[in-house]
Amino acid sequence: ETGRNTVYLWREGDDRLRQRHGEMEWVGRIRDALEQARFVPFAQPIQRLDPAAGHSLDHFEVLVRLQDEQGELIAPGAFIPAAERYHLMPEIDRHVIEAVLIELTTHPDDSIPVAINLSGQSLAQPEMLDFIADRLSHHGIAPRRVTFEITETAAISNHDQAISLIRALRYLGCHFSLDDFGSGLSSFGYLKKLSVDFLKIDGSFVRGIAQDPVDAAMVTAIHRVGRVLGLHTIAEGVEDAEGMERLRAIGLDYVQGYHIARPRPLRDCLQDLRTSS
Ligand code: C2E
Ligand code: CA
Ligand code: CA
Ligand code: CA
Repeated sequence: ETGRNTVYLWREGDDRLRQRHGEMEWVGRIRDALEQARFVPFAQPIQRLDPAAGHSLDHFEVLVRLQDEQGELIAPGAFIPAAERYHLMPEIDRHVIEAVLIELTTHPDDSIPVAINLSGQSLAQPEMLDFIADRLSHHGIAPRRVTFEITETAAISNHDQAISLIRALRYLGCHFSLDDFGSGLSSFGYLKKLSVDFLKIDGSFVRGIAQDPVDAAMVTAIHRVGRVLGLHTIAEGVEDAEGMERLRAIGLDYVQGYHIARPRPLRDCLQDLRTSS
C-alpha cells in the first residue's frame, strides 16, 4: 500500500504510528504527483495600499496545489507535514520554481513579479543556489522578478547556510520576504540578523484587526519596526473591508487576502493581466 522500499511497524491503538501511516500514504501520493507533474502553481495577488494611487497589483504569491488523480485540488496543509518529515520539500519547491518560471516565460514583457515560498529544507541545501540561478538563466527570467518567502523558524534552524543562500540570491537580484512574522519565537532578534526586503505580518494578527485592539497594536508595532529597518510591510489574511481600512490607517505598504482575491491558477492570473492590458 505504501509503495516500494518501505517497511513499517504497526501496533494497534498506537496514535503515533497511525499518524505515521497517514504520512506514509502521502509520501506515495507526493512522489507520484512529482513524477506526473501534478503540482499546480496557484497565485494570490498582493496589492499596494497606497492612499494616493488607490489599489494596484504589485505581485503574486505562488501557492502550490496538488492535483490528485481524480482532478481534485489539495491545499498544502494536507501534505506538507508528510513532505517535511520525509524530506520531500526541496523536491516540491524545485518543481514549483520550474513550473512558475515556465509560466513567466509566456509573459516575457510582463513586469509583474512573483513571490515563491521556500521551505526550511530548501534553505538548508547548498545546491539550491545553483539550481535557482541555473533555472532563472535557462528561462531568461530576470532575478528581480522573483521574491522568496521564508519563515523565521526555517531560517533559524539552518542559520549559516540560510544566511549565505539569502545573501547569494539577493546578490543575484532576487528579493526576500520574512513570512508569518510575529507567529514564531524571537522574531525581532532574527529580524536584525536576516537581511530581507519585505516583512509579512502573520494573518493571525491581521484577521481580527478591526475588532481586537491588541491585534491592531501588534500590527502597528511590527509595521513601525519594519519601517525603521527600511522594509516594506505586507499584511496577509485581509478578510474584510474594515480590516483593510484599519491597515490603511496604520500605513501598511501592501495587503493580501480573501477580501481582495482568493488563490487561482497562476496561469489564469497571468492570462487575465494580458487580456486586460
Ligand atoms: P503562507 O505562505 O502563509 O500562505 C498564506 C496562506 O493563507 C495560503 O494558504 C492562502 O491560501 C491563505 N490565505 C490567503 N488569504 C487568506 C485570507 O484572507 N484568510 C485566510 N484564512 N487564509 C488566507 P495555502 O495556500 O493553503 O498554503 C498554506 C501554506 O503552505 C503557506 O502558508 C505556505 O507556508 C505553504 N506553501 C504553499 N505553497 C508552497 C510552496 O510552493 N512551497 C512551499 N515551500 N510552501 C508552500
Ligand atoms: Ca507565504
Ligand atoms: Ca504567510
Ligand atoms: Ca502562514
